[in-house]
Amino acid sequence: MRTITVSLRTLTPIWTGDVDRTSEQVRETGLMGSVRWWTEALIRGLGGYACDPTSSDRCGFDEAAYRRTYQVEDGLRDVCPACRLFGCTGWSSKLRLVITDGEGGYVVSLEQPGAYFVLNFVEVKPTTAEERWLLAKVAWLITRYGSMGGKTTLKPPQPDYGLVALASPLRLPSSVTRESVQVWLAKMLAESPVLQERLRRAPPEWPNLRLFFFNTERWLDTGQVNELVRVDPSGFLSGRRGVSKKVFSFQKGNRFWGYARDSQMLEKVLATLQRLGVSSTRTGEEVLNEL
Ligand SMILES: [Zn+2]
Repeated sequence: MRTITVSLRTLTPIWTGDVDRTSEQVRETGLMGSVRWWTEALIRGLGGYACDPTSSDRCGFDEAAYRRTYQVEDGLRDVCPACRLFGCTGWSSKLRLVITDGEGGYVVSLEQPGAYFVLNFVEVKPTTAEERWLLAKVAWLITRYGSMGGKTTLKPPQPDYGLVALASPLRLPSSVTRESVQVWLAKMLAESPVLQERLRRAPPEWPNLRLFFFNTERWLDTGQVNELVRVDPSGFLSGRRGVSKKVFSFQKGNRFWGYARDSQMLEKVLATLQRLGVSSTRTGEEVLNEL
């Protein structure tokens, strides 16, 4: 079994849970959750279906179907690609995350900027080349445009959290392209009427990379963030009614990103940014074309 490694350097502290900060379990679970969240958004952006594992419409391994044939594929037929990789009820994750310092040590503080660390995705079950492509591209997305870990929802001028840079180039499976991953995702959908139905009724609130916006040259102050979320009377962007805000701004990192619920909302966001004189904002569509 292989280990997929991603070498990173912290640009700001990474917040990985405030329950017990000395617990590595909490830290690794937190970062894995972040990687999974971006993977789900990427899968949806590529036209595939990924469930929200916190929703009632989450996947489960079909034990009965599996017992009829003892073929794992039969148990996984109606399981989304994110759950196939990261696990769901009845199906454990294909990967275990171990964080090291790159020299075999396990003691790495992610609370200092400039810390070098390695995400070791240790295969517990074999992954496919498409899954490894998704992981590598998610690492690229997080470092190039996004952020990882919690506490990114604080409004400026709170300190930035979760900005990381790639410390060495990513290794991508040579046989895989964005197009071939899209074909792979489409095939999974075509083979499962259940997944097709779940895609049809999936809430538009679930993050889809196509509806993201990114800027790596500017940050937004509180006033600008407020201006931006005002374009949406439904409160989706501002995160009213107990849901989290959809705009994340990093003062020191000179970066912001966020996502809309539909293309109409995205248009309004982009128009507002233009009015505020914020240029060089990239849409999720443009970023997908870079993959
Ligand atoms: Zn799922």
